[in-house]
Amino acid sequence: MDRNQQLFDRARQVIPGGVNSPVRAFKAVGGTPRFVARAQGAYFWDANDKRYIDFIGSWGPMILGHGHPAVVEAVQKAVLEGFSFGAPTEREVELAEEILSLVPSMDMVRLVSSGTEAGMSAIRLARGATGRSKIIKFEGCYHGHADALLVKAGSGLATFGHATSAGVPAEVVQHTLVLEYNNVAQLEDAFALHGKELACLIIEPIAGNMNFVRASIPFVKRCRELCTEHGTMFVFDEVMTGFRVALGSAQSVYAKAIPGFAPDITVMGKVIGGGMPLAAFGGKRAVMEQLAPLGPVYQAGTLSGNPVATACGLATLREIRRPGFYEELGRKTQSFIRGLQGAADKAGVPFCGDSEGGMFGFFLFKDLPQNYATVMTTDNTRFNTLFHGLLDRGVYIAPALYEAGFMSAAHTEADIAEAVAAAADVFRLL
Ligand SMILES: *Cc1c(COP(=O)(O)O)cnc(C)c1O
Repeated sequence: MDRNQQLFDRARQVIPGGVNSPVRAFKAVGGTPRFVARAQGAYFWDANDKRYIDFIGSWGPMILGHGHPAVVEAVQKAVLEGFSFGAPTEREVELAEEILSLVPSMDMVRLVSSGTEAGMSAIRLARGATGRSKIIKFEGCYHGHADALLVKAGSGLATFGHATSAGVPAEVVQHTLVLEYNNVAQLEDAFALHGKELACLIIEPIAGNMNFVRASIPFVKRCRELCTEHGTMFVFDEVMTGFRVALGSAQSVYAKAIPGFAPDITVMGKVIGGGMPLAAFGGKRAVMEQLAPLGPVYQAGTLSGNPVATACGLATLREIRRPGFYEELGRKTQSFIRGLQGAADKAGVPFCGDSEGGMFGFFLFKDLPQNYATVMTTDNTRFNTLFHGLLDRGVYIAPALYEAGFMSAAHTEADIAEAVAAAADVFRLL
């Protein structure tokens, strides 16, 4: 008796598609989603009590693995003190201080409940602070499901985007210009045409919503220069990469190659909540003081800075700042990708992969893609065979080829070896 299937059938009667976020439905890969019964460390167990090595970790937040004792203790303690007050708490101040101490580009931060909310608010702030309407985003980058961001490229640089979702009026996306990731020439043309009207440029510095594609150093450098030149806010969406790829987040990785590099506004989520609904956006004092109640840009939230979520986030951040945390995490991620590469090579399957800190991606190609169009040339059938082969063998990766993967501190070399052995098995079938 398949309990996952029973639950999925039941779920579909009462929840659209049986899920509360579309990618969970396995639509891209087919089959029955695994309903998670419980999780601990690097594993979760589904409704049939089958164990999986979890390389998703709630799509990034679970950097310590599931049920880390220090985090569980902090959450249990917080719960006993109350769930929500709608009034300020000391823990919000502590979490803000902790985040700012790790990411020096921000002087102030506002806490919210989801990455979508943080991204949407960051754009409102950029528009409010600059008095401009137009924004640039890149094809393949996801910044949450705010109306103005559900958009694909129009034809040519003079025409703005088309909505990718029903229910988004054309008027709402008419200010969003969608450009190709890592295309410097197109970026320069766009600024030449619209520079003085651009409120912000928003980017995923290491794009995890098209598997794993890095913005090249020259591309990020040019984005920074053009934004500065035109008075446009450079927004780094680090909802996925924040505290995931490095203690200083992706911006610290770019600052190593581009001296003095900093974005104007940073959007955070996922890891900073440690698995609880918590996200944030921040920047320089003068920009952040444009927000209500100090300034004219309105933004609010009943559950913002929730006392249980902040306890969970704080406990998580205190663990990841231990010396050597990211070195160890990065070493394991690299070892996993190297193992997969070796297994694919042996089976004669085209393969390439990349990683930074605890985030990784791999492709059934010879060379790493630089943009969304190339990512989407992946052979769906082969990816699905790989996905289901791994799933059968108790290894859980993202159920879509355009999603990144995540290592946690709880994964051991034995877990990695087990996952690589499973992959070696499946590669032989490809
Ligand atoms: C997950 C994600 C978001 C949206 O965050 P939610 O909490 O799902 O609303 C935004 N931007 C990036 C880069 C993300 O990975």
